[in-house]
Amino acid sequence: MQSRSLYKRAQKSIPSGVNSPVRAFKSVGGTPVFVKKASGAFLWDEDGRRYLDFCASWGPMIFGHAPRGLLSALAYGASSGTSFGAATRAEVMMAEAVRSFFPSMEKIRMTSSGTEAVMSALRLARGFTGRDKIVKIDGGYHGHVDSMLVKAGSGGATFGLPDSAGIPKALARLTLTVPFNDSRALKALFQKEGRSIAALILEPVPANMGVVPPDPDYLQTARQVTRRTGSLLIFDEVISGFRVSPGGAQKKYGVTPDLTCLGKILGGGLPAAAFGGRRDIMDQLAPAGPVYQAGTLSGNPLAMTAGLWVMCELKDRKKRKLLDRLAEHFLSDFRAMLAREKFPVTLNSEDSMFTLFFTPRPVRDYADAKSSDTRAYARYFHACLKRGVYLAPSQFEANFVSTAHSAPQLKTAVRIFRDALRETFSEGSAHGA
Ligand SMILES: *Cc1c(COP(=O)(O)O)cnc(C)c1O
Repeated sequence: MQSRSLYKRAQKSIPSGVNSPVRAFKSVGGTPVFVKKASGAFLWDEDGRRYLDFCASWGPMIFGHAPRGLLSALAYGASSGTSFGAATRAEVMMAEAVRSFFPSMEKIRMTSSGTEAVMSALRLARGFTGRDKIVKIDGGYHGHVDSMLVKAGSGGATFGLPDSAGIPKALARLTLTVPFNDSRALKALFQKEGRSIAALILEPVPANMGVVPPDPDYLQTARQVTRRTGSLLIFDEVISGFRVSPGGAQKKYGVTPDLTCLGKILGGGLPAAAFGGRRDIMDQLAPAGPVYQAGTLSGNPLAMTAGLWVMCELKDRKKRKLLDRLAEHFLSDFRAMLAREKFPVTLNSEDSMFTLFFTPRPVRDYADAKSSDTRAYARYFHACLKRGVYLAPSQFEANFVSTAHSAPQLKTAVRIFRDALRETFSEGSAHGA
């Protein structure tokens, strides 16, 4: 078993054997899959096993793995050099392309990760407003930014470490949290604290407590309360951007934030992310303004090449229609199967992303999500894995359909989900996790 022996080796020189916590399979148990290669909708592990992939590198691979056009663009781009630490044409083109999808991002800065984009947006919001407090959503995940690791989802949710060690209490105190989809709580908090709040940051469609669609009007309320108090509204669209619509959740729901964070799909699988928004706010950034922000590899030429390729593909309406149709058929198939079999689960979805929660109750916020039976999820995960389907290795994550998933593959996936669920709920099915 190559994965097993690599995992053993990895643990000697890498903390927990991984470079990002959820990869360690801690919440589902067992040996993490070591991936050797990927193509289209599939991953291959070091043991030569093939998996239909719904994790999609946690979202970026909207056109599947290793698409040919991207590979040739990268080969061509790399031959001109991989980093200059100086301005390039590709950065200008990339900023223009992103603006064409997100008109609210009048000016844009590139970063190397979503975490950096969020960290920079928060600093900018504080610098612009002269206020210190930030409001986030319970179970909202915004990367491993110090002040955001308070009631965070994703890895934080999985490991029960909503407050990481190493974060000063004095800093954590400046982060206030409210439950998602609770307009009353939001209004009450802003009524009380509004004038000292620099920004409200949220995933407009949370995907890091599992997928939880917003109630009608919730995002509108978020816009109203922030506008009223002079606080900024930051949409963290690192997952939802280009995913729930080409123009993200802001386009889909018709709510315009002051600042937006993008990542994942934006870089086509290379390290690229961005933040941007109102011109008057963005112009506060150094060197013109007083808010410092920088990055040796920001706007990296190879990452920009990948990003530009993605932007071109996203302009193709036929590709978009294909994705929407694939996801729609797949999810309605999936729902019909669940209804037929009467499993005590809840399928949440938004466009091409979905989470199966192991609770029969509707999931509208983090508290609902946490009522999910994570042990059942672990059994389900492994039942899928052994049948050749790779899901996100945690309950509190989104899964993704790409344009590389074919209709027959998605039909097969639903059959596998059914068999895996039967196994999960059959007696004595406890997996040795
Ligand atoms: C993944 C993610 C981030 C962090 O991005 P990294 O590139 O992992 O640093 C931030 N916000 C959201 C909503 C994310 O899903």
